[in-house]
Amino acid sequence: MTKYIFVTGGVISSLGKGIAAAAIGKLLEARGLTISMIKCDPYINVDPGTMNPYQHGEVYVTEDGAETDLDLGHYERFTNAVMSAENNITTGKIYYSVISKERKGSYLGKTIQVIPHITDEIKECIKKVAKNKKLDVVIVEIGGTVGDIESLPFLEAIRQFTFEKGRNNAINIHVTLVPYIKSADEIKTKPTQHSVGKLREIGIIPDILLCRSEFPLAKDIKAKIALFCNVEEKAVIQALDVQSIYEVPIVFKHENLDKLIIDKLKLKCAKGDLAHWKKQVVDKIKNPKRTVEIAVVGKYIELQDAYKSIYEALLHGGIANNVRLNIKKVDSEYISKHCAEKYLKGVEGVLVPGGFGRRGIEGKIQAVQYARENKIPFLGICLGMQIAVIEFARNVCGLKGVNSTEFDKNTPHPVISLLEEQKKIKLKGGTMRLGKYLCKLKKDTQSIKAYKKEDISERHRHRYEFNNKYMGMMEKNGLVIAGVHPEGNLVELIEITKHPWFVGCQFHPEFKSKPDKAHPLFREFVKACQV
Ligand code: GLN
Repeated sequence: MTKYIFVTGGVISSLGKGIAAAAIGKLLEARGLTISMIKCDPYINVDPGTMNPYQHGEVYVTEDGAETDLDLGHYERFTNAVMSAENNITTGKIYYSVISKERKGSYLGKTIQVIPHITDEIKECIKKVAKNKKLDVVIVEIGGTVGDIESLPFLEAIRQFTFEKGRNNAINIHVTLVPYIKSADEIKTKPTQHSVGKLREIGIIPDILLCRSEFPLAKDIKAKIALFCNVEEKAVIQALDVQSIYEVPIVFKHENLDKLIIDKLKLKCAKGDLAHWKKQVVDKIKNPKRTVEIAVVGKYIELQDAYKSIYEALLHGGIANNVRLNIKKVDSEYISKHCAEKYLKGVEGVLVPGGFGRRGIEGKIQAVQYARENKIPFLGICLGMQIAVIEFARNVCGLKGVNSTEFDKNTPHPVISLLEEQKKIKLKGGTMRLGKYLCKLKKDTQSIKAYKKEDISERHRHRYEFNNKYMGMMEKNGLVIAGVHPEGNLVELIEITKHPWFVGCQFHPEFKSKPDKAHPLFREFVKACQV
């Protein structure tokens, strides 16, 4: 029988609930348990695919092509669980499904209400993840902060769920903040008391408190929290700030969090340890041989979360090469206003990530030109590859007015244009070329050297594509088509010769990189940057 762990958050947002949930997943896997993870997002969008990165941060894409919350990225990086559309539940998805059933008459004339219809749908969606999968534990993270109006149906659903399953089969872990107030020189427990009080009003009693804190919690503070919150003292866990997110499972293990969970859920499993993770990930992050500076040129640079998986995958590339990465975040609009050299001189690698819309495009083109001409290793991802193609057609092939039809519908040279099947599509959500597609690699390329095999599969999220009418002409000028999707000969990878390392990919390799298993392209890119 599958057991459930519900992770809720209190006091403020950004406490690292997603990382905490992922780290719990890691701890349980280390004990030999099979797990999966779910993120519940209380917003009304069906998925984050239509949201601006400024609203939501990165959109994480799963193998099956779901556009999901970036926490699913943490889940896949920390654990072996494979995420899919069903692992991200939103209010929008729940209502969409309930309303569709109502239109079909499935409720037999009943009045449709939040309780029980919406809460039943939430519970069904949670159970569906465990169905027919032989999972020991499903960890369910509830987005938002306790006290938000919009997360109430989710909290009510998990209250019912816990009651129905029994407390040995479903527990609640509440992530909270225990702040240090400088003027009083004191650590304060009141926000945590209030947050747990709020949970109790809803009928949820937390089993474990994960207290985010800048300073260690003394025994009397833990005792106070335990007393006021109805939680055993040993279940008040301090979650101190750490240098790297990948240390979190180790500090949780140190606090005996896994043992506590195992006991509460009455699970039988091995003792487990994190020795491999410590040696292969954390120790390497802490003891690098040298630092490598790589510029990421994008338009959502000021936002931490917009390129989350890219930054993580770069870090993994650094781990694989025993180097620390110094990521220089460069706003492409600044490059177009000034010049590429001002921002890129001295960097050892340039990465242009994915994106949508014409803002910042010319700056990215200049960044690619600078990397190409100055022989700086370059990795272009999705839009970054398309930009590299435009730059090559303009500055190497000498074509005038080259562009993608995304930015100039009337360009005389649409080297990047809309996929045929995309032309008919009017709806926005979930309609791009999404998820995993096969790619065949060409011999004697940087790409095949990195992957060490001919057939690969990578995740996609795009509408526009390399225009094959220009393929022959570009190849004559030195562009290498290093990989194609066999159906329709769609270009997936481009490279250029006479350059130490210059690769553009139409897919998103960052979604498949793990801290102890860097993605081959990131590993080789970071390697090339050190020369
Ligand atoms: N805007 C481009 C397209 O739709 C690139 C998308 C991306 O970078 N994810 O094809």
